[in-house]
Amino acid sequence: MLSTDDHRRDSAGLRYVYPVVSRRAGGVSVGINLNTNNACNWACVYCQVENLTRGGPPPIDLDGLEQELSGFLADAVHGDFMQRQVPPEARRLMDVAFSGNGEPTSAPEFAEAVARVGKVLARFELLGKLPVRLITNGSLLHRVEVQAGIRQLGEFGGEVWFKIDRVDPTAAAEVNGVSLVAERVFRNLELCAGLAPTWVQTCWFALNGETPSAAARKAYCELLKPLASRLAGIHLYGLARPSMQPAASRLTRLPAEELSAFADEIHKKTGIRVSVSP
Ligand code: SF4
Repeated sequence: MLSTDDHRRDSAGLRYVYPVVSRRAGGVSVGINLNTNNACNWACVYCQVENLTRGGPPPIDLDGLEQELSGFLADAVHGDFMQRQVPPEARRLMDVAFSGNGEPTSAPEFAEAVARVGKVLARFELLGKLPVRLITNGSLLHRVEVQAGIRQLGEFGGEVWFKIDRVDPTAAAEVNGVSLVAERVFRNLELCAGLAPTWVQTCWFALNGETPSAAARKAYCELLKPLASRLAGIHLYGLARPSMQPAASRLTRLPAEELSAFADEIHKKTGIRVSVSP
């Protein structure tokens, strides 16, 4: 049986496709991992990927991906996968999510992978019924081929979860391991929201015993406010599972009340709806 703690990418014995019972999605999420080498262009301190390295994925075997997804859906929809592997309360498919061991859009084949997923879903009469999600750090939205993939995902009735954890460059460097420029993040988010329904996903926690400051909260709200009418909302979440990075011991979960208070502040200052998962 898969449990909500079982987020191993190899739980179905496949290369690209991994089912998880997702806390966020509330059922079985069919994950698509393009980053089979655990390489990401970011290095978030809370990342749950073991043996995370910097870089991009190896070439994607698109036919293999298509076959794996077809085979898995055949077992999940027509076979006994749910009975064999999933607790009774979670026996329904929630989404197909590009969410792997690294940044999915860094694969040059990303747009083609989205197209293949759409093709398979159409074959199972699930296109437009089973949402296709992209969990991304949004850093590559300036690439035309990434935009093409997201546009297509939007046409499939899908949505994007776009990571913004901290706005201040120093904090972003500490939390995400990259140098971010707020204007570029804004531009990429704006672009993304124009292509597909876009949620901002934000991981909020204390680092080295320090809760993000009032200035950090203010900068975050100011960045997002101008896009309020174009965003689907914000997912604000705490440290759901332990970090697999060397910095793990420097992270502390915040009390649920603190996350709720920040969610209220965001909503009050920006008008954007916020869902909280402490
Ligand atoms: S962007 Fe995602 S996969 Fe990449 S380091 Fe951050 S949490 Fe890990």
